[in-house]
Amino acid sequence: MLDIRYIRENAERIQRTAKQKKLHFNVEELLEVDTFRKDVLVQVESRRAERNRLTQNIKALMKQNHAEPVEQIKEQVREINEELTRLEAQLTHSNARYEELMLLVPNIVSVDTPIGEDDTDNVEIRCWGEPPVFDFEARDHVTLGEIHDLIDIPRGVKTAGSRNYFLKGAALYLHLAVQRLALDVLTAHGFTPMDVPVMVRPESLKRTGFFPGGEDQTYELTGEDKWLVGTSEVSLVSYYSDEIIDVTQPIKLAGMSSCYRREIGSAGRDVRGLYRVHQFAKVEQVVLCENNPEVSEAMLQKMTRYAEEILQLLELPYRVVAVCTGDMSQKTHKQYDIETWMPSRQAYGETHSSSNLHDFQARRSNIRYRDQDGKLQYCHSLNNTAVASPRILIPLLENHQQADGTIEIPAALRPYMNGIEKLVPPS
Ligand code: AMP
Repeated sequence: MLDIRYIRENAERIQRTAKQKKLHFNVEELLEVDTFRKDVLVQVESRRAERNRLTQNIKALMKQNHAEPVEQIKEQVREINEELTRLEAQLTHSNARYEELMLLVPNIVSVDTPIGEDDTDNVEIRCWGEPPVFDFEARDHVTLGEIHDLIDIPRGVKTAGSRNYFLKGAALYLHLAVQRLALDVLTAHGFTPMDVPVMVRPESLKRTGFFPGGEDQTYELTGEDKWLVGTSEVSLVSYYSDEIIDVTQPIKLAGMSSCYRREIGSAGRDVRGLYRVHQFAKVEQVVLCENNPEVSEAMLQKMTRYAEEILQLLELPYRVVAVCTGDMSQKTHKQYDIETWMPSRQAYGETHSSSNLHDFQARRSNIRYRDQDGKLQYCHSLNNTAVASPRILIPLLENHQQADGTIEIPAALRPYMNGIEKLVPPS
């Protein structure tokens, strides 16, 4: 959400941003509704004042026993009441429409955000590591998972439908190990690890910028006024909703949760393996800091580097891309994606998403702090993946496979692997 004064003064920029983000939003309609509701409010207030004045008159005249003018004034009051009923209905209706439209306003994007249609227009910023060149016939993670008895997709589908899976044995240790490693890296950088609710009220999804618009991607719990989160960002930001917080130092939270996504609109995309599934686990970074673009930009850079640190510990080649307008969501001000090399795709695949939302989310969630002058300000919020599994198991298994059919475990993961240093296929 943005400030209505800001929207009025920057209407053209906001309309342009909506177009660049491929959002259906009409800034003119919002401004007209805002003007209209303010006009109606003025009329309502003037009619109410007039009615009060007339009611006082009636009282005064009654005291003096002037029956005739009293009747005339009562008639005027009746007319005003009728008009007020009509105006108040208009006010309620236009206020509701105003609230609806305000939720659709896109966040403006940073000046260095590339303008583009989709992910093919994202711009590479830097690369790390070399994609491996195998001198044997490399296997994809699905085949490796079968040979090593680590991943069972057919039984996942049998049990829970498409885009479901079982992780078995060492795959579960790996799934937990990457999350433990991520938590330890973030804790060393001052993050507070958090376990969070994954069933939340729709209000939390609305206030963090997922609703309206994201309902069809989200699982609703039948018979409950609750939905399953697609990311712990929802719960971590909502933790502070309607609070006045202290951001003298940025608040850094590391959420660990299951995430649930309907993946509507992805039919036919990434159907093989673990890339796009309905349920996965994620360690997420969320930071709240002061309302200062330089501070939050520096934070975005750091959070991106923390994710890179984890990928380097996993010894996985990756690249960082600046995400273009057409590939961004409504709430995002600036975004980097990190894509990790996936040999079976012979391409980098997205594994992390790092975003600065400025005060967009904090306005909706009403999260404020007192600045040095004691004035209340909405804080800036940011989020980034630390690790998401099982997607990260794709590059992990595929990049570290060896000619003899074994899979190396990167040194940084070994302390979390119950003594397993290498995956060997069962004989
Ligand atoms: P997002 O919150 O959409 O930016 O996603 C953050 C990360 O979560 C992605 O970069 C992926 O690593 C992971 N992820 C998102 N959606 C899925 C999915 N349907 N299946 C598996 N992993 C996912």
